[in-house]
Amino acid sequence: MNSLFYEGLAEGDNKKLLSVPKSDIHNHSTKGCRRKWLEEKTGQRFAEPPERFDGLAGMQEWFTETIKPYCSGREGIILRWEGAFAEARRNNITRLAMNFGAAEIDLVGGMDIFENLISSFHQKNCPNTVFEPEITYISLCDIELEAGKMDQYLSSGFFRSIDVCGGEGIKPFETYLPLYRKAEDYHLVKKMHVGETGSADDVRRAVEVLNLDEVHHGINASGSEEVMRFLADNRIQLNVCPSSNVMLGYASDYKDHPIRLLYENGVRVTINTDDLLIFDSSIENEYLLLYQSGTLNAEQLNEIRKNGLL
Ligand SMILES: [Zn+2]
Repeated sequence: MNSLFYEGLAEGDNKKLLSVPKSDIHNHSTKGCRRKWLEEKTGQRFAEPPERFDGLAGMQEWFTETIKPYCSGREGIILRWEGAFAEARRNNITRLAMNFGAAEIDLVGGMDIFENLISSFHQKNCPNTVFEPEITYISLCDIELEAGKMDQYLSSGFFRSIDVCGGEGIKPFETYLPLYRKAEDYHLVKKMHVGETGSADDVRRAVEVLNLDEVHHGINASGSEEVMRFLADNRIQLNVCPSSNVMLGYASDYKDHPIRLLYENGVRVTINTDDLLIFDSSIENEYLLLYQSGTLNAEQLNEIRKNGLL
């Protein structure tokens, strides 16, 4: 598999890269399918995304105007979930962590129905893929209220990890402790979106305050050698999404993407899609983009690929 991966990179051959086992562990499930797949299923044509979005708000606006009108509500979400598993099959993703919001679970009819739906998509599309469902909360949410409702989502043991997403610097990290304490009761892996727009110190503070195991994004940790050392020493993994960072303007380009500095400083990183339906770059292509930009060499990318499979 190593040689096929090297060949795929050297020859710019997406097909070869598709067949190599990979992981995707920063994946927002409702935006986890390919645009082309959704076009086939809905009979609609969707506009291509712009090269750059005007930050998170611009991205959300584009999604709401371009995609959502044709696949919203219960049926639309279920269709997009199915597409996310279809992509895992197509791209030989042998380890997949996807996040789901409590509101989405409610929308489809509660935990039992949700679990059956998701398990059936998993079994139908990629039964050999290690699947790790993640429950995610929006940083703006009513934390006490949500923490009080967590048992109904966690008691079945379906979820493996917790995440908070949807913008940084909204509330102090301590405010989220009720969610993370509850997650600890259920032995979930603890993650948070931080260091995408926030600083290196924010990354360290979030890890220390919430006892995080992994960080989604975390790229701005590259601004501090001290914080990178802290992450490396404590084996805190950063789940990096290059195209997301470039298209949202949080990284200047692929060539100078912070993943290189993080890697060189011994920080454990993985490469992921974030929102494939929006950024339109599937996982094999993310590796290829970094290779062709000279950001990381084939051996380094292969080591990162293997990091994700553990
Ligand atoms: Zn994300």
